[in-house]
Amino acid sequence: MPDSGAPLSVTPSGVTSAPFVEFAGVAVTYGAGTPQAVAALSPTDLAFGRGEFICIVGPSGCGKTTLMQTLAGFLPPTTGMVSVGGQAVRGPGPERGVVFQQAALFPWKTVAANAGFGPAMRGLPRAVQRERVEYWLHSVGLWEFRDRYPYELSGGMQQRLAIARALANEPEILLMDEPFGALDALTREKMQEALHEVWRSRGMTVLFITHSVDEAVYLGTEIVVMSQRPGRILARIPAPFARQSADSEIRHVKASADFVALREQVLGLIWGENAV
Ligand code: ADP
Ligand code: MG
Repeated sequence: MPDSGAPLSVTPSGVTSAPFVEFAGVAVTYGAGTPQAVAALSPTDLAFGRGEFICIVGPSGCGKTTLMQTLAGFLPPTTGMVSVGGQAVRGPGPERGVVFQQAALFPWKTVAANAGFGPAMRGLPRAVQRERVEYWLHSVGLWEFRDRYPYELSGGMQQRLAIARALANEPEILLMDEPFGALDALTREKMQEALHEVWRSRGMTVLFITHSVDEAVYLGTEIVVMSQRPGRILARIPAPFARQSADSEIRHVKASADFVALREQVLGLIWGENAV
């Protein structure tokens, strides 16, 4: 936790009442002031507490990645401000881990070296580096593959490694941009379950972009629906399943009447507003 000016009040359940992440009037126009200017994101206000799992859904090109990049610190907003724990975001930082759709691994490094990249870069003690690598490779089921190279792994394993690499930094916030979008359906569900497990046990804050409403309703504590470009927030819908389904199998959760009803509600919002 970086030193933060704003005190956060923590309830006995560990849920904070003050916002942890805050987008205040954040808008992005690419090439602002040029004839090629593209308004990607309308002024957006979005705040959420520590430990939330926020899923963003919306049509292609509506500004989801743009919004996430401002929190990652890769892209300064054209107007507005992003803050974490009351501190303005001014660039990338190890407390915010990022996972992209394509696992951007280091092909010349072993699985273990990929997983330990962040802790090594930060010069953490060797023993801590080893401990983190071992813990996270076990968590994502890749410990036996620690001496292999990324090209020897399947797509799902590569993505698990990318997640382990992000988590080995023990970020407070995990930013995931369609991380399972390139995986086949079965692998994708396994990854959803694995991520759900990690989130339940670690309780980190997650901002997760997906095209899959099903995935959003399963994983999210809240679903944020965005409009077409320039994106704005159409609706914020709380979802109960992430905190409920401790022992339930994913397919049972997804087949339940409550789940199906919420998925239909979110789909209705997306189709209703964005209908052509
Ligand atoms: P999403 O992630 O929802 O698909 P993006 O945030 O990637 O949408 O993009 C929002 C809009 O901004 C799109 O119309 C896209 O073409 C445009 N855009 C994204 N990046 C750039 C860029 N670097 N320069 C100009 N336009 C961009
Ligand atoms: Mg995107």
